[in-house]
Amino acid sequence: MEATTRSEAESAAGDGAPPTDGETLEVRRPADGSLLRTIPVDGPARVREVVERVRAAQPAWEALGISGRRRWLARLRDWLIENSERVADVMQAETGKVRADAELEAPLICDVINFYGANAARFLADETPSPHLPILKVKRLRVVYRPHQVVGNISPWNFPLLLSFDDTIAALQAGAGVVVKPSEFAPLTTMEVVRAWKEEIGGPDVLDAVNGAGETGGALIDACDFIQFTGSERTGKVVMKRAAESLTPVSLELGGKDPMIVLRDANLERAVNGAAYGGLVNTGQTCLSIERVYVEEPIYDEFVARLAERVGELRQGEDGRSGSAEIGAMTTPAQLEKVAEHVEDARTKGARILTGGRRIDGPGDWYEPTVIADADHSMKVMTEETFGPVVPVMKVKDAEDALRLANDSRYGLGGSVFTRDFRRGEEVARRMETGAVNVDDVLTNYLTIEVPMGGWKASGIGQRHGANGIRKFCRVESILSPRFPQPAADPLWFPNSRRKRAFVSRLFRFLNARGWRNRLGI
Ligand code: NAD
Repeated sequence: MEATTRSEAESAAGDGAPPTDGETLEVRRPADGSLLRTIPVDGPARVREVVERVRAAQPAWEALGISGRRRWLARLRDWLIENSERVADVMQAETGKVRADAELEAPLICDVINFYGANAARFLADETPSPHLPILKVKRLRVVYRPHQVVGNISPWNFPLLLSFDDTIAALQAGAGVVVKPSEFAPLTTMEVVRAWKEEIGGPDVLDAVNGAGETGGALIDACDFIQFTGSERTGKVVMKRAAESLTPVSLELGGKDPMIVLRDANLERAVNGAAYGGLVNTGQTCLSIERVYVEEPIYDEFVARLAERVGELRQGEDGRSGSAEIGAMTTPAQLEKVAEHVEDARTKGARILTGGRRIDGPGDWYEPTVIADADHSMKVMTEETFGPVVPVMKVKDAEDALRLANDSRYGLGGSVFTRDFRRGEEVARRMETGAVNVDDVLTNYLTIEVPMGGWKASGIGQRHGANGIRKFCRVESILSPRFPQPAADPLWFPNSRRKRAFVSRLFRFLNARGWRNRLGI
């Protein structure tokens, strides 16, 4: 796929963006590079028009209330269940995923619909705190969650259904309208679901999509009231800068370099299988991928030998609907280049490539599943996000050494600790500088949507899932009203007088000082 010349403002993604002549976008099959479809690019004027249409429909959507919105989203869930094969076909074609990976996404979105459908009333219920100052007990306090009008959701290519709709569902359930801008590399899945919402489900005009790369994304930031962004750290910074111009709030879910720590008492077989799956599911193109593994010295040799054997057995290729492969194609040519560069860098710096380590000749973007032993922090594969089918492993002296190295990263999205002593695992987890840790497990925190998922450090700002995953799409309004009929004027109101000031000062002292003598000023 040839990249055409484009300005920095058009895409922070840099090289490797699909060709666009400014009016159309070519979507290709990563499995063989053939053209799938040409779609129109939405320029700034069209983006504004779409956002304004959604904005006009949003008040009626908000007025439906949580249960009314829940009913519409349940129809989307039912449509996804009925059409999951079709959605997976589209996704597989535009991403090069194997079937098992493509089929993971619809069930997760259905679960998000059910979760927020069942819990939104609780998460967004008015709060009624009691005033802590005795003199304000006459007030009734209320904290109210009111949706942003239009949320722009800018999503990446690696999970086109999940990441275009996970936050979108929460925002819609909160009462916002949503305009999604899917990745220019994999827009067809999102387009299919939005088409179904409009044409088959007949849903209100509060969900739409716009297509294009950076220019379209920038226009969406300018037009919306809140921006949900999932993508690279580099683009995340561009998005935040652009949003700062209009003081538009953002939630950023960015890249990661998730560490896995394997302690000497770990169930070795489980740790090996966890590293293979956590590092290579979705061909390693997963934000929460195991990107680096630290193994305690006594079990290191056996761990790397078994991991190389396990990964060497994985089947790679296009598997259609059969589910007969574990590893697919790389979704973008730029990602393939990056993976090859990281592996070469490790090879030249003395790491051992135990299996894989080569791009596959022929049409399409393919890289072999790869295990690297004897990696260290001088190598890109241990410090920069690789985002491909590569599991680098490093020997460590002990748990302290592993923790120090795990935390030596600009990222902090997720991580894992493998041990048979789960309490010890939690102790190690508490010292990891990251938004989530799975003890004796990988990736599962994405499924436990009652807990927040969000990156520390360069991995992001804000969280999805949990209570905050829906509250973030709301503006918080505090409403104060009297409990009793009101006098003509409150004690603090005008006019001022010496007597009144003296009274107020004595009152403040009484309320804020501690100890009776201090309170009374004696
Ligand atoms: P990317 O940053 O290149 O693109 C993401 C989106 O931003 C795309 O829709 C793209 O068109 C858009 N975009 C590009 N330039 C823009 C601009 N100037 N203004 C507005 N929008 C712009 O990321 P990608 O390559 O699509 O995805 C891979 C990255 O996403 C990896 O770093 C991965 O870790 C990260 N990711 C994070 C999570 C998470 O939840 N934390 C999940 C999945 C992927």
